[in-house]
Amino acid sequence: PIAERATTIDDLPVRDELRGKSPYGAPQLDTPVQLNTNENPYPLPEPLVERIAERVAEAARGLNRYPDRDAVELRTELAKYLTRTGKHPLAVENVWAANGSNEVIQQLLQTFGGPGRTAIGFEPSYSMHALIARGTGTGWVSGPRREDFTIDLAAAERAIAEHTPDVVFITSPNNPTGTAVAAETVLALYEAAQAAGPSMVIVDEAYVEFSHRDSLLPLIEGRPNLVVSRTMSKAFGAAGLRLGYLAAHPAVVDAVQLVRLPYHLSAVTQATALAALEHTDTLLGYVEQLKDERDRLVDELRAIGYEVTESDANFVQFGRFDDSHAVWQRILDRGVLVRDNGVPGWLRVTAGTPAENDAFLDAVRQLKKEQS
Ligand code: PMP
Repeated sequence: PIAERATTIDDLPVRDELRGKSPYGAPQLDTPVQLNTNENPYPLPEPLVERIAERVAEAARGLNRYPDRDAVELRTELAKYLTRTGKHPLAVENVWAANGSNEVIQQLLQTFGGPGRTAIGFEPSYSMHALIARGTGTGWVSGPRREDFTIDLAAAERAIAEHTPDVVFITSPNNPTGTAVAAETVLALYEAAQAAGPSMVIVDEAYVEFSHRDSLLPLIEGRPNLVVSRTMSKAFGAAGLRLGYLAAHPAVVDAVQLVRLPYHLSAVTQATALAALEHTDTLLGYVEQLKDERDRLVDELRAIGYEVTESDANFVQFGRFDDSHAVWQRILDRGVLVRDNGVPGWLRVTAGTPAENDAFLDAVRQLKKEQS
């Protein structure tokens, strides 16, 4: 029978670098309170749901044809959004879109990484950077961070000089720590990467709408090797849509088209994203509420007696624990799913609705009482 499990991955002729590895696996558990994957807790507003239905119906009438391969209307609207919020004028030629920023990053590594090339990230950081590197045959270097999770510029520059990576990842705000990176640090790393390289510097700004700091988008001016990647999964509350995008010099947009699959972005996806962009102001209103809730989580966790890493994102890293996985389980036993990212001593909680955050705070308050 086809479901027979005697054959495992190990029996298949998979590539050597995939042997013994595990897939990305944030648990998708059915718990009452889910604060584990940095999603936006607010469902899309009803008028937007209706607009999506309209635009998708329109797209459905043309589904016998392939979609716009270059997603020109969508990229134009994304450029307008970035121009309005990023304090820097951008045009359709500066913007590229794909199925989630994971796919954007994959296309960038297919273009600028690959066999015989290396990428570096400063860890702990977003684990998919290393996994996508592996999937594209790109070597991976784990660069350092300070004990407080900020980037130690001198140490980072040394790592870049030593490993001469082809791609440098800078995640700001960083996941899972919440730490934002100053523009001066990014500029210094860009210079170091060009001196050692030249190499592409990818600034992953998946969470930038939640930050106290401005986007680093203006830095792409005059720096063709700098790419800023963004997503509609967090601030736009549309993780299920799968829409990520990048802003860069037009030459970068030309380059990624060498590896993108033709018609990678379905007509349904393009229509849905365009509808969401019509409702940007409403969606960004939720971002303001989430920033307040994030700040409340930071304050209350500290008041309870936990250590908290400064956060510019829609989540908060808290600790410290001798056995963070055991604590993760005890919080889960109280019906609240948070994330154990494997950073020893720390866990991460996503800012949810006020009620969800209260449920989380009650759970960790109880834990603290039991410990003392
Ligand atoms: N970058 C970072 C730093 C992230 O945390 C995430 C999602 N967890 C992504 C990129 C990918 O998001 P998506 O593919 O949904 O755009």
